[in-house]
Amino acid sequence: MASPPMPAARLPAVKIRAITSVALTGESPKGGWSAEIKPQDSIHALIAVHTDAGITGYGSVFTDGRLVQAALKVLEPLFLGENALEPERVSEKLHQNSFWMGRGGSLTHAISGIDIALWDILGKATGLPVGRLLGGSYRQRVQPYCSLLMEQPKEMHEVITTYRQLGFTAFKIGWGPFGRAMDHKLDAAIVRAARDAAGPDAKLMVDAGASDAYWPHGLKWALRTADMLADYDVGWFEEALRPDAIDDFCTLRRASPVKIAGGEVLTRRQTFLPWLVRGAFDIVQPDVTKVGGISEQRRIAWTAHDFGIQYIGHGWNTALGLAADLQLASAIPDSDLVEYIGGSPYVDGILQQPFALDGDGFLNIPDRPGLGVELDRDKVAHYCSDAAPLFAG
Ligand SMILES: [Mg+2]
Repeated sequence: MASPPMPAARLPAVKIRAITSVALTGESPKGGWSAEIKPQDSIHALIAVHTDAGITGYGSVFTDGRLVQAALKVLEPLFLGENALEPERVSEKLHQNSFWMGRGGSLTHAISGIDIALWDILGKATGLPVGRLLGGSYRQRVQPYCSLLMEQPKEMHEVITTYRQLGFTAFKIGWGPFGRAMDHKLDAAIVRAARDAAGPDAKLMVDAGASDAYWPHGLKWALRTADMLADYDVGWFEEALRPDAIDDFCTLRRASPVKIAGGEVLTRRQTFLPWLVRGAFDIVQPDVTKVGGISEQRRIAWTAHDFGIQYIGHGWNTALGLAADLQLASAIPDSDLVEYIGGSPYVDGILQQPFALDGDGFLNIPDRPGLGVELDRDKVAHYCSDAAPLFAG
C-alpha cells in the first residue's frame, strides 16, 4: 500500500524589515587594558532584527556601537527583505558579499550580532531553543566561570572571596599587573592568593591577556609561567602569547604542563583552521559576538572537536552574548564551561529575568524558544541614550 503523501512544510518566510542597534554605555566594565576602558566608552552594542511577522530577534556585538551603526548601513542592501528564518544562509550571504569592506573586522563583528538575532528569530518562530536547532542538547546546565581582573595579592584574595560567597565555583583571573610588572614573584603571589581564596576544589584559570597592546613577553616567559601555574592546579593558561604567534603557541602547547587556551580575538572560521589543524591550543575560545555569530562558532567548535581540541565560548560581555554561549554549550559535547564576567550590569542588569546560579554554582540553559531570554526595556534604557530602536515593533 502506498504511504500517504507527506504534508508540505508550513513555515512561511519571515522577512527582515529593519536591523537596529544601540550602544551600551555608562557602566562599561574595565578590561585591564593598557588604555583602560572608561565607563562611558562604547565597547558593546545590542542588535535587534525586526521582521514583517512581528517577531524580533536580539543579538550582541563586542565593539564600538558607532562601528556597528556604520556596518549596518553598509550591509542593509544585502539583508533587507531576506528570510529571517535562514540564519546560516543569510549570514553567509553577508560574509560573501562584503569581502572588500573589512572582512574579519567591523563588518564581521556586526554580522555576529545579526546572526545571533536570526537564530533567536528561528527559535521563536519554531518554538524551540536555539541549542535544539543546532542539533540537540548534550546538557541542561553548564558551569560558569567567574572572570575577574587580576589585582595585587591582598585585593585578589578579597575579590575571589566575594564572588565565591555569591556561589561561583570556578574562576578565571587575568590582565592587570600579571606579567606587566615584570616580576615573577608577584605573578606567583597573585595566583597563590587566588587559589587560597577559591579553595582547593574550585576551578581556577589564568589569562595573561597578551592580546593587549605591546605585550612585553614571549615564549620563554610563557614556558616559565606555565610551570608556575601548574603548582597552583590552574586549569588553563589563556592568551599567554601575542595573538598571532602561532608557531610559539604550538611549541608552548606541547611543552606546558597546564592546558593552553586562546583565540578570542580571531574572527572568521577560516582564520581558525591553521590554529586547529596545527594544534596550537588545548582549548579554543572564539567570541560569538565577534567571530561571525552562532553559525560561525558552531562550525569552529565542531572542527575543534574533530581535532581533539575543547571549545569554550567567550561571548561573556553582555547577557545576550552569554545567552548565545549557553545555547552553544548545550549543543557541543565537551563544552562544559562558559565565561561569566563578574559584576557587569550589561550581563546582570538588562534581562527581565536575570541569570541565577543554582546550588552547585551552575547556570540552567534556558529551554524557552530562541535564546530563551528577554531584554527588559527599562533596564536597557539605563545603559544607552535611547533604547527605542531595539523595541520598535
Ligand atoms: Mg581572555
